[in-house]
Amino acid sequence: MPFQTGLIGWPLGHSVSPAMHNAAFAALGLEGRYDALPVAPEEVAALVHSLPMRGYRGVNVTIPHKQAVMPLMDDLSDAARAIGAVNTVIVERFSKSLSAEAASNDLGNRFTVLCGDNTDWLGFLHPLEARGFELAGKSALLLGAGGSARAVAYALAMRGVSQLAIWNRTPDRAAELAHHVAALAPALTIHQFTNSPFPISHFPFDLIVNTTPVGMWPNADASPWPDDLPFPPGALVYDLVYRPEETRFLRQATAAGCATQGGLAMLVAQGAAAFEMWTGLNPPMDVMLAAAAAALRS
Ligand code: NAP
Repeated sequence: MPFQTGLIGWPLGHSVSPAMHNAAFAALGLEGRYDALPVAPEEVAALVHSLPMRGYRGVNVTIPHKQAVMPLMDDLSDAARAIGAVNTVIVERFSKSLSAEAASNDLGNRFTVLCGDNTDWLGFLHPLEARGFELAGKSALLLGAGGSARAVAYALAMRGVSQLAIWNRTPDRAAELAHHVAALAPALTIHQFTNSPFPISHFPFDLIVNTTPVGMWPNADASPWPDDLPFPPGALVYDLVYRPEETRFLRQATAAGCATQGGLAMLVAQGAAAFEMWTGLNPPMDVMLAAAAAALRS
C-alpha cells in the first residue's frame, strides 16, 4: 500500500507541506503522497475517523484543529498530552485475525488505532541542536503564549533551561502558559510580562524566541521587537515565522550583532519527524528544505 499522508486544517491556504513531503517521497523512491485536506471544524471528526478506511498512514494537523482532534485519538504521546495539541496523527494498523490469509486481506480485516503526537517541539529543537546551541542552564525569553509557544516552552523545559520569561499581549494567556510550564518543570524559574519593552536589562537572555505571527507576510514590515530596544549581547534570536524567510525581527537582531535562526528549518524538522513516524524512514531534510523554500518563493 502506498504511503498516503496529508495535512488537515481550515483554511489551508498555500501550505508548503505537500511540496516538502512529496519531494521526500520522490527522493526515497517511495510510493507515497501527501495531500492538502482542507476540512471545516464541523467536519473534522468525520474526516479523522475516515482516515484508516481511506488508506491514510497519518496526517499532519494545523490551525484550527490541533486541540479539536485530541479527543478523537485512541492514544496520545506524552508530548501531545503535555503540549495540549496534536500536530501529527499516526494510523497504527493491527491484524485482528489469526488467519494469515485474512491478515493480508484488505483494511476490513484489520483494526486501527489513531495515535496523536506532537512534533513541533522536536522541530523547534532541531536547528538549535544542529548549531550546537546548548539549552541546559540557559535563560530564554518567549514572545507570545499561543499554540506554538506551548510546544516551544515544552521543548525548553525538557532541555533544562533554568529561566523562562514569557511576554504576551494578553496577560491571562501568559499566566496560563506560565502555570502550565510550572507544572511540567517545577525547578524552572518563570517570569511573565505583558508590558513592552521587555525587561532585558534585568535578564541577560541567551535565547529570544518569537512565537507571535508579528512580521509574517503580508505584514512583513512589522516586528515584535521595539526599534529602540537593544538586544542582549550574544543572544541567539529565533523567529518561528518563516514567511518571509528572513523577517524584520531577524534583520534587527543581525544588525545588533546577534546570531539568528529563522522558522523554515523548524517547519522542515517537524515535518521530517512526522514523516519518520509514518514511514519508519529518515527523510532527506536537505531535499525537504529545498522543496519548502521553492514552494515559499513560488
Ligand atoms: P496562536 O496560537 O494564534 O498564537 C499567537 C500568539 O501571538 C498569541 O500569544 C497572541 O497573543 C500573539 N499575537 C498575535 N497577534 C499579535 C500581535 N499583533 N501583537 C502581539 N502579539 C500577537 O498562533 P501559533 O499557532 O502559536 O502560531 C504563531 C506563529 O508561529 C505563526 O506565524 C505561525 O506561522 C508560526 N509557526 C511556525 C512554525 C514553524 O514550524 N516554523 C510552527 C508553528 C507556528 P494573544 O494571546 O494576545 O492573542
